[in-house]
Amino acid sequence: MTTELLTRPVPNTAVFVPELVYFEPDAMNYPKGQQIYEWAKQQGLEIHMTTSHNQIRDLPGDTELEKYRIAKQTLVVGLRKTLKFDTSKPSAEYAIPIATGCMGHCHYCYLQTTLGAKPYIRVYVNMDDILAAAQKYIDERAPEITRFEAACTSDPVGLEHISGSLKQVIEFMGQQPLGRLRFVTKFHHVDSLLDANHNKHTRFRFSVNADYVIKNFEPGTSRFHERIEAAGKVARAGYPLGFIIAPIIWHEGWEEGYARLLEKLHEQLPQEAVQDLTFEMIQHRFTKTAKNVIQKRYPKTKLEMDEEKRKYKWGRWGQGKYVYPDDQANALREFITEQIFDKFPDAKIEYFT
Ligand code: SF4
Repeated sequence: MTTELLTRPVPNTAVFVPELVYFEPDAMNYPKGQQIYEWAKQQGLEIHMTTSHNQIRDLPGDTELEKYRIAKQTLVVGLRKTLKFDTSKPSAEYAIPIATGCMGHCHYCYLQTTLGAKPYIRVYVNMDDILAAAQKYIDERAPEITRFEAACTSDPVGLEHISGSLKQVIEFMGQQPLGRLRFVTKFHHVDSLLDANHNKHTRFRFSVNADYVIKNFEPGTSRFHERIEAAGKVARAGYPLGFIIAPIIWHEGWEEGYARLLEKLHEQLPQEAVQDLTFEMIQHRFTKTAKNVIQKRYPKTKLEMDEEKRKYKWGRWGQGKYVYPDDQANALREFITEQIFDKFPDAKIEYFT
């Protein structure tokens, strides 16, 4: 990434600008660290130094809720020390860690629990180390293809104007005969990625949903029409395109809501976008821990989390989760599948989970 990219006026004012920025001292030894520092200074942001990106303890805020809101507006720039990648089934073999945390406020987001007391946003400046680790994973699995998911712990498109890291990974995978990248986003700020040398090795997916879900549960993200417009741009730039319908939520009028979603996709997507199109479907699920956290952070949420109405699914490692009972899950899967094939007969449905 060049300094020019960071300092160029960003065309849409809705890009994320944090209120507070913390730097690990070592981050300043990397060009990316220095560039982000310059950007933060130019934006007039409050800058602090911290010993470790895992230990931001002095965030302002009087209540837990206030601290949470401020954490979501706080950027921490540091080094990724753990270079052991998590697995990322079913969408990929590994999660590639280029950022952690997100400025969106989706009520149902699983980062609520996985990030626990550290909901602030971390970007990593040692991309060479991260890419070298990815190379090792690719080599280990050769001659099989290895897929990496870049959105397991963040929404990297929403942070790209700050870090430029996603473009680096896209171009790295473009050069890898056996490496593939995929990520999902709810943000429309894709312009800086359109000229990347992706070599069709990156599947660019957008998260979409029925109006009811976007309106009630996804504050702080790009609106549906912005995501679709961005999907068109991405498809015209030659990226393989996909949509993740997630979380699929049973609500009054859900059939109409999901039918309309597919209709709108069909009406609004350009022709280029519908060749090689994939869909992934994930029904809403929650754990007891998530429910507690969500109710504290979004006390007025309309998100239905009644254990009585759900089926308990045992987890492989400890705590299980609540999903829809089989009859509801099947109804959702069958109906949305029909709608997808009705509008996009050549699309591939990768999974429903
Ligand atoms: Fe979570 Fe994605 Fe929403 Fe960010 S945009 S809060 S990562 S669901």
